[in-house]
Amino acid sequence: MSKTSSIIEQTEKFGAHNYHPLPIVISQAEGVWVEDPEGNRYMDMLSAYSALNHGHRHPKIIQALKDQADKVTLTSRAFHNDKLGEFYEKLSDLTGKSMILPMNTGAEAVETALKAVRRWAYRVKQVPADRAEIIVCEGNFHGRTITVTSFSSSEEYREGFGPFTPGFKIIPYGDLEALKKAITANTAAFLVEPIQGEAGIVIPREGFLFEAYRLCRENNVLFVADEIQTGFGRTGKLFACDWEAVKPDVYIMGKALGGGVFPISAVAADEDILGLFDPGSHGSTFGGNPLGCAVAIAALDVLKEEGLVERSLELGKYFIEQLRQMESPRIHEVRGRGLFIGAQLREKARPCCEKLKELGILCKETHETTIRFAPPLTIAKEQLDWALERIKQVL
Ligand code: PLP
Repeated sequence: MSKTSSIIEQTEKFGAHNYHPLPIVISQAEGVWVEDPEGNRYMDMLSAYSALNHGHRHPKIIQALKDQADKVTLTSRAFHNDKLGEFYEKLSDLTGKSMILPMNTGAEAVETALKAVRRWAYRVKQVPADRAEIIVCEGNFHGRTITVTSFSSSEEYREGFGPFTPGFKIIPYGDLEALKKAITANTAAFLVEPIQGEAGIVIPREGFLFEAYRLCRENNVLFVADEIQTGFGRTGKLFACDWEAVKPDVYIMGKALGGGVFPISAVAADEDILGLFDPGSHGSTFGGNPLGCAVAIAALDVLKEEGLVERSLELGKYFIEQLRQMESPRIHEVRGRGLFIGAQLREKARPCCEKLKELGILCKETHETTIRFAPPLTIAKEQLDWALERIKQVL
């Protein structure tokens, strides 16, 4: 039995089957390349759902991890640590928000934002106790906790997990009229992905984000952007909301904030919102740990130093153009911004992903018929051409 087969067998035997991975084991990785135990090389075109914007094991980020590991890794928030303030200041500068609250995973950051906007609704907007409403969109993906799945429109995420958390209204994605109708005096916030990633790289019609933001403003409703997958250059702007010059009241960030190395997420907002948390009202043992902060500081530095946002914009345009020029009868539509690209097929996407894997490209289907192409933003044009040649063979 090959090493790959025996590792997969062991993993499947002892692990819960809450994922359906492609049959490949990754045991080494660098930049855009990964390798299996037999030494076969593949190009990573998924980037761990956009957590690897900086590529695998970016040397500067790994160095920051090692340096910090030699000093102090965890303090809990019972004490201060000497990296948290620096991390706060950097992320505050980047988002233009005066306060940051650090967590670990994306779903935790979403939960944090939900708590923040509910507290804001009661204390600032004067919504009657326990009546706050949050509006979300059909096709959303914000994580997997009970509360977050409470407002998922996807039955596979909810089946068998009730009872659910009340207080959410679902409107069609991109529907301004529906948003207008859904807003009441009790609405605390509108929570939205500026581009829906898990739904299959779904981009709302032009102007929607800006108009929704304006509508929220007019009605004293907070605009909360989940930029966990779209943030940090993935869509060719620092944040996907920048495409429509929207400055959300609350940013939710995760994934690439940890440089593909360490789980770190955060919520950014001004003091009138995040200032409503007081000691005891929220927290996390590992949230804001010095190891995560050191990694995130390095990841934000690399993003700037290597112009990854600009690279994503430029290379994304090229890649989308090339995919469209293939004029493959199997492709229904190519859509995307920056290096956040979906090719929607007229057939199931998984067999194509399996064929691409045979040719040395790793990508994953999303919502059955769409292949998501989201390589590290550090990818070179020649490497994209290498991938395009193989994609052409399959599609
Ligand atoms: N929000 C969005 C937009 C996401 O894409 C994801 C993960 O894919 C999450 C939230 C949840 O993040 P995590 O898996 O780190 O909990």
